[in-house]
Amino acid sequence: MRDLQEKINRLAEERQERLIDILRTLVAFETVSPPARNTEEAQSYVKDVLLNLGFETEEWELFPGDRIVAGTKQGERSEEYQSLLLNGHMDVVAVGDEASWKYPPFVITEEEGLLYGRGTSDMKGGMASSLFALELLQELGIKQKGDIFFQSVTGEEAGEAGTKSCVDRGMKADFAIVADTSNLEIHGQGGVITGWITIKSKETYHDGLRSRMIHAGGGINGASAIEKMAKVIEGLQELERHWAITKSYPEFPMGSTTINPSVIEGGRNAAFIADECRLWITVHFYPNETYEEVAKEIEEHILAVAMADPWMKNNPPLFKWGGKSMIEERGEVFPALDVDHTHEALAVLKEQHQTVSKRKAVVSMSSTVTDAGWLGAAGIPAVIYGPGKLDDAHAVDEKVELHQLLEHSKVLAGFIAKWCSTERSNTHDEAEARAIY
Ligand SMILES: [Zn+2]
Repeated sequence: MRDLQEKINRLAEERQERLIDILRTLVAFETVSPPARNTEEAQSYVKDVLLNLGFETEEWELFPGDRIVAGTKQGERSEEYQSLLLNGHMDVVAVGDEASWKYPPFVITEEEGLLYGRGTSDMKGGMASSLFALELLQELGIKQKGDIFFQSVTGEEAGEAGTKSCVDRGMKADFAIVADTSNLEIHGQGGVITGWITIKSKETYHDGLRSRMIHAGGGINGASAIEKMAKVIEGLQELERHWAITKSYPEFPMGSTTINPSVIEGGRNAAFIADECRLWITVHFYPNETYEEVAKEIEEHILAVAMADPWMKNNPPLFKWGGKSMIEERGEVFPALDVDHTHEALAVLKEQHQTVSKRKAVVSMSSTVTDAGWLGAAGIPAVIYGPGKLDDAHAVDEKVELHQLLEHSKVLAGFIAKWCSTERSNTHDEAEARAIY
């Protein structure tokens, strides 16, 4: 195995221009989200690369203009040997004011061992190094016994769950690696759910009636939905502090379970008492919680706050949780992902990482969310393991180290060679898939 890893390492160094080339091609596709609906060309490029690698591919539309490409390379003895799923997203976040970029965002600039361009760290870099790893194995003539699956998805940056559409089609594997930004650490993640809290008055009042709603003897039992929302926000802060004190999870800083009031909308215009107010919140939770549980906790707490208010008691806040797209529905869900520290594949990945990088593998929790949560929720043991730093993801002059990209490819190629030649143990049980929506 050491010999093989050395061969892989040597070939990776020799062929590094090809790795840069794949990344250059991927970055040149302006797959920015929002607006999204622009990944077809990029996806057909990935499809061609997979076809050249001997994969069979299928594709489907997530939204018009956004396609998912899924490939399968059948192993020689699929039934008895471990399978692997590689997953990545093709969409990237907006560039913002291009004038603030020193380097052109959709052209790769190489400078002092760094590659600049939108998506280099999140996560076209990881896509490129994953495809390159497969090419290395092909060139070395290594045929794996277990199946390899590759999912090139879109929609991740807008919570559009392209990966969920893959698992909804029944795609499974013994282990999965999502090559999203993790600085070559092995990560699980907390979960995120967004929600809307709405306060709505049954009556609409003229601004001129305000004094009768707030002063002694006024006689109008009305309220400003905006002012009542202030109470709701206070209630959310109370619950957030309570969670910070009472909840914890290994590898997460205390207080990671936040409730962010991210957007507020309300009122008609200055001539009215606001009869409706809507608050968009973003909730982070730990891997030992489900989004249903945290949503329920928030509802119960806020309804208790409302019960203590004479007007809200009869006009309780309304809740709408999650959604399938931040663009289409203004809502999203990312399930949490726990790392199974005893999983056989994790041991192999850690070992390959250490062999290649000469550094001990770090297993930890990401401070962000990725599609890996959908794989875990579908019962596929998964980790996030990709090149690039979170500080660079979404940033102006986004960049990745070429050295790290190469290292990712080497580790991945070595891992695939080993894992997909490992016999399945008889005790292997597929975890029950959890329904998400
Ligand atoms: Zn990403």
